[in-house]
Order: sequence, then C-alpha cells, then structure tokens
Amino acid sequence: MYIQEIQVEIKSKADKDEIFEEMSFLTHYYRGNGQSQGRIESQYIAGSKIICLPFTLEKDSLDRKYNNFYTDRQREKIEQLCDTKIQIKTVGKTCETYNSACNCKKSDFYILITNYITIESPICCGTCHQSVPLYRLPKYADHGYAPILSWESNYISCDTLQMNCEVGERWASNQMEDLKSTLTKQGLKICRTLESLTHTPVYYYLHNYSKYKGDELSRTCPGCNSNWGLQAPLHDRYDFKCDQCRLVSTLSGFS
Ligand SMILES: [Zn+2]
Ligand SMILES: [Zn+2]
Repeated sequence: MYIQEIQVEIKSKADKDEIFEEMSFLTHYYRGNGQSQGRIESQYIAGSKIICLPFTLEKDSLDRKYNNFYTDRQREKIEQLCDTKIQIKTVGKTCETYNSACNCKKSDFYILITNYITIESPICCGTCHQSVPLYRLPKYADHGYAPILSWESNYISCDTLQMNCEVGERWASNQMEDLKSTLTKQGLKICRTLESLTHTPVYYYLHNYSKYKGDELSRTCPGCNSNWGLQAPLHDRYDFKCDQCRLVSTLSGFS
C-alpha cells in the first residue's frame, strides 16, 4: 500500500486546532469515497502546517479525478480557511514489492470479504485476487460507499470478538458463518446491489470455523444444498464456491 502526505500550511489567522479537525473530516470523506484505507493514519501539527499520512491502494488514489462531492467540498473549505492550497504527495510504501491494486479491465467476478486485521478494500477481484479500490466501482449511495464500509466495520467487529475469545465469541462466529445472520444478510444485500450496478457477479465470503467435522469438502452449499467443494483451491484460498448462490468459503482447518 502507499502512504500519502496531505499537507496544508496555514497562511491565514485560522486556528490550528480547527484546521486539524477539518483535516480529520477530509480523511473521513476520503475513506467514505474509498480513496484512503483504514482509520489509522497519523495526523499532526508541525509549526504552521497540518500534516496527515493516510494509506491508499494506488499511487494516485487521492487524485482529484476520483474525488466526490464531499471530498471536493471539504478540500475547498480547508483551502479557503488556510488561504493556501493543500499539497499531496506519495511518501512511501508499506511493502517493497507492492505494485498496485486490481488493474483488470473487466473482473470476472468480485468477492465481498474482510477480516479483523486488514485495511485492504472489502471488495476483492475474483480474477487477479487483488483489492479493488471502491472509487473504481459505480457510486453506491450518497456519492460514496458508506453502506459497504458499514458492513466492513460490522464484520471486523465480529471477527475481533471471535479472535479475542472472551466476549461474545460464539455469537460473533455465528454472525460470520450463518447464511441467515444479520451480518450475512447485510453483506448479501450489498452483493446484489453491486451486481446490478456493475453487471458483474459478486460473491459473498462465508466464514467457516470448526462447525463441520469429517470430510468437509463433501459438505453442501448452505444456500442451495448442491455440491460446492472445489477440486483445487481458487487463488490458493477458497475451497468452496457456489455459482448459484454466489458464495465462497474455506476449509476450517479442523477436519
Ligand atoms: Zn483484478
Ligand atoms: Zn448454493
């Protein structure tokens, strides 16, 4: 992933703390538009400058051409308050070999997937298995992707409870494993909406922990009850795929 530096030098009489807060809103809007990843950027005051270091999937993720109504409006607001232009430059990468996000001209399908630790996009390309920057997809709602990010943070919350073990572990696991859970329903609704927006199949990743014992690959799809075990894992990761229900899953590793 790339790390960007968003910098504004206050050349007016504007209060630093106020600009600091306005900058937080800007990164919030970038996130809502899929232009930055995670909520873990550093932001600080250095002399008369406010500097923020968000993560992005592409080198030019913060380019104006990807901006939406909210990011444009917030950027202009800060520039007016500070009486100067915001400067953005790429300052580094998180991994030497990182090249880019999905570059496919047309993905065969997408997968809605995340976990407690990742800050990748919750939409993964089924063709190259790389992250798909949300801003490359048609707008989902209100100029951005808030409902997808809402599912993402719900899923991450459940996965965190499951990982931490002590509080609500079983409830959280069920949310991730059960086709009829509130979390799964929220995710499936996003899949169906994205399909109608992109005319591309969108699969939902259904978590699989230790419920199924024995010959796991012979278990059937929880949606339509047909065989969905794959002969060879897809992208070295998915062991189950149902094209009718558009679900993917993995072996639990406990069989
Ligand atoms: Zn791709
Ligand atoms: Zn099925």
